[in-house]
Amino acid sequence: MKTTLIIGAGGVSRVVVHKCVQNVDVFGKIVLASRSIGRCEVIKSDLPDADIEITTVDADVTDEVIKLIKSCNADIVINVALPYQDLTIMDACIATKTPYLDTANYEHPDEAKFEYKLQWERDAKFKEAGIMGLLGSGFDPGATNVFCAYAQKHYFDEIHTIDILDCNAGDHGYAFATNFNPEINLREVSAKGRYWENGVWIETEPMEIMQVWDYPEVGPKDSYLLYHEEMESLVKHIKGLKRIRFFMTFGQSYLTHMKCLENVGMLGIEPVEHKGMKIIPMEFLKTLLPDPASLGPRTTGKTNIGIVAEGIKDGVKKKIYIYQVKDHEDCYAETNSQGVSYSTGVPAMIGAKLMLQGKWSGTGVFNMEQMDPDAFMDEMNTQGLPWEIKELEV
Ligand code: NDP
Repeated sequence: MKTTLIIGAGGVSRVVVHKCVQNVDVFGKIVLASRSIGRCEVIKSDLPDADIEITTVDADVTDEVIKLIKSCNADIVINVALPYQDLTIMDACIATKTPYLDTANYEHPDEAKFEYKLQWERDAKFKEAGIMGLLGSGFDPGATNVFCAYAQKHYFDEIHTIDILDCNAGDHGYAFATNFNPEINLREVSAKGRYWENGVWIETEPMEIMQVWDYPEVGPKDSYLLYHEEMESLVKHIKGLKRIRFFMTFGQSYLTHMKCLENVGMLGIEPVEHKGMKIIPMEFLKTLLPDPASLGPRTTGKTNIGIVAEGIKDGVKKKIYIYQVKDHEDCYAETNSQGVSYSTGVPAMIGAKLMLQGKWSGTGVFNMEQMDPDAFMDEMNTQGLPWEIKELEV
């Protein structure tokens, strides 16, 4: 029987654990490890009949992760802790020759770079260890990369432009809260925007570019151009690409709160002196904001995330839209988690399932679009994330 080690016990982890248990024939025994035991206990109590062992680990310390992997003899490590832990967990996987998967690219706690450089640099070591590392197996990055690979494989000879369109029309009833880890979320949306055109990155002011997109089953929403990490790998792997952009929806209330927090310095990631002690404003803000994992029972509405690709097939111009719509309340009914955690956790489980089954294999470090998309797309349809394809007018 296989053993699956899951590191991190937040909102995304809760979904991953539920879904791995639903696919127990592939995942076998689950070992769930996180910094503190409390959230592991909550997840375990959701699934009293499942074979789940819980424990603590400080995943910032490679040796602790090595010890844990060895003690449970893990067949795979699913990293759903924070991006700060990616490198230490990858290094532990190299040392123990254990396959690795994550959902977000590495970030240094003192910098907000959102780049794959340090993870890609470990490719040779993954090859030497004879193991596979799958990077960014969430929704975006993750399913969106697979949508691009699927479009490339089945619909185009060349894709010229891609827009990734991420809409969360959920309502949690709070004046301000983030749907996943507040530090990571606010770093991402308060940073300068960036998109790629004709081989160069073009920088914009935060939220400078906005378009209204009519999301199926949701309706028209203001969608703002952001930098998002999957673009870095997609520009390497999609044939003929001339432009790629990423848009995310935000309501006016969210933007006003964020601007105000930014203006007073609450989004800062440098320590400041407060009554003789150092505090990091963003960390303190996280303490004040609702825990994203607690939003599940109060969130209504839908998410719709997809890609619009335009290019050429057999000499004819073509444009397609691949998207996935999910209802927050359905996600909560199934996994005790809201839609953003759900649509990240399910692709993490699917990526790991394909690796354990040998359907996705290789040695080295891979981004999602480097794998054959068909098996992943099939799994999405049966594991709770059914998708649609529409042809649009060019
Ligand atoms: P949470 O903050 O809810 O959970 C993170 C978990 O990691 C917590 O249980 C936390 O422990 C644990 N953790 C933090 N530091 C350590 C450490 N040093 N050692 C061990 N465990 C640690 O985050 P989410 O569940 O919302 O997000 C999980 C990941 O998914 C993040 O990397 C996020 O960026 C990514 N994500 C990806 C998306 C995608 O589409 N690709 C979308 C959304 C999220 P504790 O409880 O003690 O704090």
